[in-house]
Amino acid sequence: MRPLVRQPALPEEMPGSRRNMLRAACALAGAACLPVWVTASAQGAAEPLDEHVAFRRVVAANRILANESVVDAFGHVSVRDPRDPSRYVMSHARSPALVEYADLMEFQQDGKPLDPRGRRAYGERMIHGAVYEARPDVNAVVHHHAYSVIPFAVSDIPLVPLTHTAAVIGSEIPVWDIAAHFGDTDTLVRTMEIGRDLAAVLADNTCLLMRGHGAVVVGATVQQAVLSAIYLEVNARILAQTLALTDTLKALSAAEVELARATQFSPLGAERAWEYYCRRAGVEPI
Ligand SMILES: [Zn+2]
Repeated sequence: MRPLVRQPALPEEMPGSRRNMLRAACALAGAACLPVWVTASAQGAAEPLDEHVAFRRVVAANRILANESVVDAFGHVSVRDPRDPSRYVMSHARSPALVEYADLMEFQQDGKPLDPRGRRAYGERMIHGAVYEARPDVNAVVHHHAYSVIPFAVSDIPLVPLTHTAAVIGSEIPVWDIAAHFGDTDTLVRTMEIGRDLAAVLADNTCLLMRGHGAVVVGATVQQAVLSAIYLEVNARILAQTLALTDTLKALSAAEVELARATQFSPLGAERAWEYYCRRAGVEPI
């Protein structure tokens, strides 16, 4: 996978001497000077969003989730805009493994793109807007179709946390069925009305399964949402393996989940895990 390269970007029309002076100043100032991901967008030469660490983490999150097989050609991740909490930022409709900084677009909470410039938005972005609308505590959202979680979205077997690293998924994982209120559909969350229905079932939980479709995972930060999405997929595999051996489960208790989750999301756990997953995905930890 091609690593992201971070270096100062200078306007091409700037005279050579001024460019050289600015480049030298940037070198002295380190990474703080006009840094962007210097990679080309697949769709045109649109100017990237203003530099922000939260947006760079969204790019890293896309690469990580693809590298960990949580997402494939489909799936997406967003971050609430720290500059304007009524907006969020995510890639245009591109497979997560391919997402680069210049692919990022900004959206109003209702899903309207602020500056589309011909770029196609994800059809299911309403998941993100509806969750941000319902959950002020949420600043990052992941939607994926990982096949390991599907058995628990189409059966009455609850996806319960089985191991301490997976405590980040929470004790309760509700299942949302689009057919309950919307009948036969292609199961995609295409409107805010459907998104709000999903967000109501998610309630205060971290993860939600979508019958016949996939999952939604939320977090207070991009890192937390990514780690929870990774361990939701891991926990689903462990649960399927366990059920092949026995129908007697000893899941983590609610108190164990709270304690283990606090450890995993502490700097001791979260920073170590984020660096690890960034490096595995070939991106610079940020
Ligand atoms: Zn989907």
